[in-house]
Parts: sequence; C-alpha cells; structure tokens
Amino acid sequence: MAGTPVNNATPNERTLNIWEKLYLPEIFKGLKYSYSKMSAPRYTFEYPEEQWYPPDSYRGRPVLVEEEGRPRCVSCGLCARSCPPLAISMQAHEVFDDVKEREPEWFEINMLRCIYCGFCEEVCPEEAIVMSKEYDLTFHDREEAHFGLDRLLVPKEFLADRLAFLERQKNPQFGQQWDFPKANNVHTLRNRLDYALAEAKDTDSAEA
Ligand code: SF4
Ligand code: SF4
Repeated sequence: MAGTPVNNATPNERTLNIWEKLYLPEIFKGLKYSYSKMSAPRYTFEYPEEQWYPPDSYRGRPVLVEEEGRPRCVSCGLCARSCPPLAISMQAHEVFDDVKEREPEWFEINMLRCIYCGFCEEVCPEEAIVMSKEYDLTFHDREEAHFGLDRLLVPKEFLADRLAFLERQKNPQFGQQWDFPKANNVHTLRNRLDYALAEAKDTDSAEA
C-alpha cells in the first residue's frame, strides 16, 4: 500500500541501550570471550593434514569385499534393488571355477547419487558390500564419480574392523528376534561351506 511504513519496530523487538549503540564495548566483550576460549580444549583438527579415524560403526563409502583375489559378490542384485537413489548397477556372468555360480562382470556405484544409507550392506546375503571408513571423496568430473570394480574392490583384510562390527552388532540381532538357526545367518558361501563341514565333523564325532 502506498505510504505504509515498512520498517516499523515489532512489539517484541529489543532496543539497544546506550553502550550497545556505541558498539566498542560490545566488540571488547566479544574479544574477551574469544580470548577466554583460547585455552579451552580443542574439538577441531587441521584437516586434511590431520586425519579423522572414524569408529567401526561409521558408514563411509560402500565397497565390495575381495576374498581370495575375487569379489565375494554373487551378483544377486539385491543391493541395487534396495538402493534408494538407484546408485548401483551391475551385470552378472557365470563362473565355473569357484564355489559360487555368478560373479559381477561389471559393478558400478554412482558416488554422486550414494547417500551412505547402508541399505546395500543391510540386504546383502553374502556380506559382500560393506560400508568402509572412507569419507573424503573428490572428483574432477561426473564420470570420475562412477566407481567400477577397480575402485570398489577392497581386500577383506582391510575391512576387518567393519566385518567384525557386523559380526558383533548386526548379525546376532536376527537370531534374537526370530530365533533363526545359526546356519541361516552364516554369511558368504565360503563361510557356509566351512560351517557345514564343521557341523558334519561334529555329527561324525558324536556318532563315533
Ligand atoms: S549406501 Fe545407500 S545409497 Fe549408497 S549405494 Fe548403498 S544403498 Fe545405495
Ligand atoms: S547384494 Fe551383495 S551379493 Fe548381491 S549383488 Fe549386491 S553386493 Fe553382490
């Protein structure tokens, strides 16, 4: 409306006293506060010279577990199916020289889409994709953000912390809630074979 003042004080607006209007006392108050904090313990560090090492529960970029020189992944597609931003894609091929029947021909995660939710890790029946501790990703262009097998595969020895965390925290919850037999929750084909062999051995020794 023409002539309506637009900068009126609102009823709750605080008015400055004479010292605040002078500004200098407020500046000194601010400096005093800053100096008082100089000797306080620091909660920041000088990244990237100083690195932060996240706890085992941290969800950094998802990686594929490499075991005995090949991916644990059996290319079932569950992770791609459960990924909310559709960041995962893959193509399976058959393998004849291993305990598993399928392996990814190629496997790709678009790290510009990934929201680090961990759903892929949650649904993977083989514990073949896990959240690593890596959090500082940089790319020069969008193509570089498409991580293929060459950047996704990490030997399981380097992921021991996370795998142990899953063993400790996540896996036992299934058994508690639904009382599954332990064998139902044994991850990876190799582990299941070991488990079956151990069970057979126990049965044999019980019968003997
Ligand atoms: S962490 Fe989440 S968003 Fe990222 S690839 Fe896995 S399911 Fe997709
Ligand atoms: S859910 Fe696991 S085994 Fe299945 S495709 Fe994804 S990473 Fe591979």
